[in-house]
Amino acid sequence: MQQSSLWQAVLGEIELTVSRGSFATWFKHTQLLQCSDELAIIGVNNIFVKNQFEQRYTELLQKTLAHNGVSPQKIEFKIIPSQKAAPSNDDEPVLVTASVGQNTRSKQHGAQLGTAQTPASPQPSGAGNSLSHSYRQGINERYTFDNFIVGASNELAFAACQSISQNPGRKYNPLFLYGGVGIGKTHLIQAAGNAFLANNPGAKVLYISTEQFVQEFVDALRYRKTAEFASYYRSADMLIVDDIQFIAGKDKMEEEFFHTFNALHQANRQIIITSDTPPNEIPTIKERLRSRLGWGMTIDMQVPDFETRCAILQMKAHDHGVDLPMNVADFLATRAQTNIRELEGSLNQLLALCDVKKQPPSIEIATEMLGSTKSRPKHLSAKQIVERTARHFQTPLTDILGPKRDKDIVVPRQVAMYLLHEELGLSFPKIAKELGRKDHTTAIHSVRKVEKEVESDSDMRGAIAAIREQLHV
Ligand code: ADP
Ligand code: MG
Repeated sequence: MQQSSLWQAVLGEIELTVSRGSFATWFKHTQLLQCSDELAIIGVNNIFVKNQFEQRYTELLQKTLAHNGVSPQKIEFKIIPSQKAAPSNDDEPVLVTASVGQNTRSKQHGAQLGTAQTPASPQPSGAGNSLSHSYRQGINERYTFDNFIVGASNELAFAACQSISQNPGRKYNPLFLYGGVGIGKTHLIQAAGNAFLANNPGAKVLYISTEQFVQEFVDALRYRKTAEFASYYRSADMLIVDDIQFIAGKDKMEEEFFHTFNALHQANRQIIITSDTPPNEIPTIKERLRSRLGWGMTIDMQVPDFETRCAILQMKAHDHGVDLPMNVADFLATRAQTNIRELEGSLNQLLALCDVKKQPPSIEIATEMLGSTKSRPKHLSAKQIVERTARHFQTPLTDILGPKRDKDIVVPRQVAMYLLHEELGLSFPKIAKELGRKDHTTAIHSVRKVEKEVESDSDMRGAIAAIREQLHV
């Protein structure tokens, strides 16, 4: 049997044995590099996959290879790096993305990705422009496909981003990724920009967070530079707009973006957009833009599963030069379930503590840091959240659920909505229903408002921390 067909057969069998998540995370991107009776060498993407294989899967591989007629005495794993990130460019302005919003789980719109070749992509424009940006605005080379761990929750988005960085502007245009906060949307779209730049170094790749986009547009209006603004963004080879939900309610900006979108789309320039909701749930945007956002491919990114979270932790620890034991990774991954940024936060905290104590990471230190070994309660209900919030603010529950609009009732109501969103990832219509509201845009506005306040108002942060503590005792 040919090596590649042997490996296909082995993978096919393993796919039936392990969970979907494990397969996508560990097996999918492997190759058989060499195979004889003495030695089989399997190519893997990175050190974490290698570790996993050595620790957990050698036996399974041996057994499955034997089923398929080869029984090598030894199996080795070799790291074969995939494509490299773009060269560094220190002059670039690096924009920090806004990261507000939370999970709104919705149906998956993703179509299957094909591998058919598309016609050659448009040549990078390379034209000059009068604004003070370089051709790779906002692209941070820290984010690559190589350092993105693929699992069932994000494999489709990953494949789509890879595909458009190879064949931009044709097949999936626009590419629209949506999902909760901290699940890797920004990372992936930045990686797509980096990979595209690596293939087309002269290309004009513009990444912008919607908040920054709006701000620039307001400035352009003020200084009467809207024509420059328009021509700058309309000459992009790839335009990446992060967190488009923030365009809601900004009519002039929406109008401008609509025309930019049309110009780029017509010229087959790739557009990538992220949001915390699918296009049809972004409040208040006009139908004509909404429908365009859904023209290409819309992908629902889910919260990474447990195995993916463990792999991410091990990779991040490795970046710090630390070998994170499996049980410690398990422990942290159980505690932070929905947000990879939080997961990274707890890892960094742990590594700092280990540094101070001059000890390697262990369950004991992790427990000390996180207070107890209890994981987040799994059965937290919407009702409990609303009740605890009411109790914290000493507001009668009936008022929170009722029609009154006094400030001391509205605030707890908004906080309850925010917590339902953060803690349970409920959709906006569900949140509205839990609070007895008919219109789900109220829920969206409330959640956004509290998200903003949490950033600027320490009282609000304190209140939310106190309620959370009550919820998680
Ligand atoms: P989002 O844009 O969805 O809010 P980000 O892309 O900012 O999330 O991700 C938050 C952090 O988690 C980033 O530091 C990112 O690198 C990391 N991260 C998220 N998903 C992954 C993954 N699958 N592999 C590696 N790192 C990830
Ligand atoms: Mg983001």
